[in-house]
Amino acid sequence: MGRRARIMATMGPSVSDPQSVDSLIEAGMDAARINASHSRPEEIERSITLLKEARERAGKPLAIVLDLMGPKMRVGEIKGGVAVLRFGQDFTLTTSPVQGNEHRVHVDMPAPPPDLLPGDEVLMDDGAIRLKVVKVRGGEVSCRVILGGELRPRKGVSFPGRRMNLPALTGKDLDDLRMGISLGVDWVALSLVRSAEDIKLLRKEIVECGGSQPVLAKIESGEALQNADEIIEASDAVMVARGDLGVERPIEEVPLIQKELVRRTALKGKPVVVATQIMESMVYHPYPTRAEASDIANAVLEGADALMLAAETAIGKYPVKAVEMMGRIISRAEGANPYEAWLRERERLIGQGTVEATCFAACELAGQVEARALVAITESGFTALQLSRFRPRSPVVALTPHAGAADRLKLAWGIEPLCMKTSGSLETRLRRAVRLLEEMGLAGKGDRVVLVAGLKGPRDPSSTTNLIKVEML
Ligand code: PGA
Ligand code: MN
Repeated sequence: MGRRARIMATMGPSVSDPQSVDSLIEAGMDAARINASHSRPEEIERSITLLKEARERAGKPLAIVLDLMGPKMRVGEIKGGVAVLRFGQDFTLTTSPVQGNEHRVHVDMPAPPPDLLPGDEVLMDDGAIRLKVVKVRGGEVSCRVILGGELRPRKGVSFPGRRMNLPALTGKDLDDLRMGISLGVDWVALSLVRSAEDIKLLRKEIVECGGSQPVLAKIESGEALQNADEIIEASDAVMVARGDLGVERPIEEVPLIQKELVRRTALKGKPVVVATQIMESMVYHPYPTRAEASDIANAVLEGADALMLAAETAIGKYPVKAVEMMGRIISRAEGANPYEAWLRERERLIGQGTVEATCFAACELAGQVEARALVAITESGFTALQLSRFRPRSPVVALTPHAGAADRLKLAWGIEPLCMKTSGSLETRLRRAVRLLEEMGLAGKGDRVVLVAGLKGPRDPSSTTNLIKVEML
């Protein structure tokens, strides 16, 4: 049985040529992330094209994820490229377009910054530099340095716990989105989501650009955590973005936040990605630390759909080794997956909907007959996601006529998507499905497989998933 949890890898300078991307796919990359925060439009275009060509060569599905920058504040230019901030000194953030130095720096924040108060903390560069607000006047925030360091241009700035009233999508985001949609990315991710409204706005923009991409919400702030349920409901997938979460929330809370978000999202049948510093040491070393190996295994056992590599592949020295190593650690951890407990936990949460009830029954049945595969004949891929949601022991095979649906499904736990025509009578579809399973070596003589499909009935014109067939090959 193949690996069930998925590997997402971030594109960047370390993997910017065709051979590198081929090697990443060969090593097991299931989804590729393009981080728009660090890419100019022409770089985004190049990455998407590179990935699409590599996917074509590999002849297997790959989810291409465009990750929009969202409402992240950043410092502007700095004279000489670095300003040294020392403990106890005064330091001013300003909306004026000044060239930064050790006394002041431009920040693209609203003026005046709403609800910011004296005593508030300001974090720069993911918390590597910390300030305390002394006074706020107009577009100027006077601060004192609490934790000094070297400040460089374009580093992020955050005011933990304060809503900054920034638009969910910047001008750059809209440009990047247009580019991504015209080139046909499979998923659009949004950074620093605050509420379901942000997701609705993104969906509206996607449609306006002529797209229909599913949306992944990156949960990375206290505000998003407070609205987590409505965000999960409004999105198609979620990322536990531990980088910014560890800045916005006390770091000791991050492991528990991860557990809770993974659980809540996966129960809803939506993919959940655990991200950031997952094998950070592999940026410089060919081997991960024991703690990193444990982190990966624990995310798998928590039930995460996918684990994301960021700097490890984007700027690391060992991008291919990182993907390989992650694959090995995941596969080994999966030997201990608590399938039975997962199924029983999820059973309690299903409603009366025909699709979910049918899928649950199919998962139980597949377990009972020790099916070699659980096969969904599906247009959009929704049925496959519903099967994956119950985390069955039998591999889920999704047969869809749409290559785009197959690519999108590569983000979800345990689904092997394959392209197959789904037209014709039920018998035709089933025959085609079984033949394809045999051809692909996914099942053979003597194996039983469980097929899930939809059939119109005499009184019921809907053909949503409503039928289960056990087939002995
Ligand atoms: P980023 O998101 O890499 O775009 O910041 C991930 C995170 O914050 O963990
Ligand atoms: Mn982030």
